[in-house]
Amino acid sequence: MEIFDYLEKYDYEQLVFCQDRNSGLKAIISIHDTTLGPALGGTRIWDYKSEEDAIVDALRLSKGMTYKNATAGLNLGGGKAVIIGDPTKIKSEELFRSFGRYIEGLGGRYITAEDMNTTTQDMALINDETDYVVGLEGKSGNPSPVTAFGVYRGILAAANEVFGSDDLTGKVVAVQGLGSVGYAVCEHLVNAGAKLFVTDIRKESIERAVNNLGVTAVSPDEIYNVECDIFTPCAMGAVINDFTVEQLKCKIVAGSANNQLAEEKHGEILREKGILYVPDFVINSGGVINVYEELLGYNKERAMKRASAIYDAVKKVIEISKRDNVPTFIAAERMAEERIEKIRKVNSIYLKE
Ligand code: NAD
Repeated sequence: MEIFDYLEKYDYEQLVFCQDRNSGLKAIISIHDTTLGPALGGTRIWDYKSEEDAIVDALRLSKGMTYKNATAGLNLGGGKAVIIGDPTKIKSEELFRSFGRYIEGLGGRYITAEDMNTTTQDMALINDETDYVVGLEGKSGNPSPVTAFGVYRGILAAANEVFGSDDLTGKVVAVQGLGSVGYAVCEHLVNAGAKLFVTDIRKESIERAVNNLGVTAVSPDEIYNVECDIFTPCAMGAVINDFTVEQLKCKIVAGSANNQLAEEKHGEILREKGILYVPDFVINSGGVINVYEELLGYNKERAMKRASAIYDAVKKVIEISKRDNVPTFIAAERMAEERIEKIRKVNSIYLKE
């Protein structure tokens, strides 16, 4: 791969390779854009098949964080880090502490957090060497309630657009995944008077939802076929794919799962079918909103208030989608790019240092 060609094509600022023989650390930090503020994004550990796979993952994910942070209205740029190796084998105090020193060396241009295969304990070790880490124990805590509230607010905005009202009374919602976020989204929806069909691959999770919330369970395969108003994916990525997109019988797709579209074409197909897709990185930004608050001195009320504004962000995405006649996933990227451009111009006004 021609790295500089790739960086130039998508306007990346910096790609950092970290190697430490003592700890075995092999990490890549990608900083996509810092116009809005320091690049924030988690660190994942993955046993990549090749170095190129690791580089591409770091690059792709950091660009996604630029968009997510920008549409959430945060003063943060986009970054991401990957540590190469088997997470069950490579973790050690020295690995995370050496990684922390590389982050410290970036002087605040990159702030890390938990991601796939990293934990709050790992973040605590990184924190021994640098303050540029969020999601620490005893600070912002579990992001899921904030994420779930943001998803609920995003669903309301979509309902307002499609059904002409925020009132979910009697609306049928199919929820896939009853984990930390999915279950909490169900609570909001039930309180709002919606009728829920739910699924999970874990029997205990289904039982909990059925017993506590009075929802109806369906099998994991049936969830796509439910005659519903809203489909709410809160489990895994690539859930809108060639196989599922033809089955959906909803008017809205809005849920917390990351990377819901298997390919961009599926976003276009949803639009052709008259289904409003609420872009994942806009509706699930409650998690990053929650850790952002940690940088300001954590305040749960403020985090919830900011997550509540996901309603307005979703409305704006819909507006841009109509204005430019493009699918919502493209509109969301435009919304981010427009904010970044405007703030770039604000930053050009001279101020004495
Ligand atoms: P979780 O692991 O707590 O819950 C996921 C649930 O999905 C589990 O109960 C699991 O059994 C179920 N599941 C897995 N595969 C399934 C399948 N094929 N069919 C039905 N159910 C299935 O995770 P979470 O924290 O609730 O996150 C859910 C999604 O939201 C993930 O995609 C995550 O990346 C995304 N997300 C979460 C946050 C957050 O704050 N936790 C923030 C942003 C995005």
